[in-house]
Amino acid sequence: MTTHKGGCHCGKIAYEFDGEIGTVMDCNCSLCQKRGGLLQFIPASAFRLATSRDDLGTYKFNKHSIAHHFCKHCGIAPFSEGADPKGNKMVAINVRCVDGIELHTLDVKPFDGRDR
Ligand SMILES: [Zn+2]
Repeated sequence: MTTHKGGCHCGKIAYEFDGEIGTVMDCNCSLCQKRGGLLQFIPASAFRLATSRDDLGTYKFNKHSIAHHFCKHCGIAPFSEGADPKGNKMVAINVRCVDGIELHTLDVKPFDGRDR
């Protein structure tokens, strides 16, 4: 198991998570299309926020089931929090915000989030 680090641009949001980065989602929902994130979902238990929640801005829309966090200072959106259909807490990592990631090595799959 690999431990990855990531965060926002200015450093006020930093995190670690355990897992392999494999297939990532390029979602076409109204938020992701504008924001341009590439998402990988992991169990919340594998995620550790290393910085204060006070620096997180949070945006919710549509069903308000996912908390889309962004940095109040630099505006980058490195992760979101939600739950899978069974109610298990999940974190959506924006893999663009993971340290040392080589975007061209990722397996990017389109995800049709527009109609959900
Ligand atoms: Zn920041």
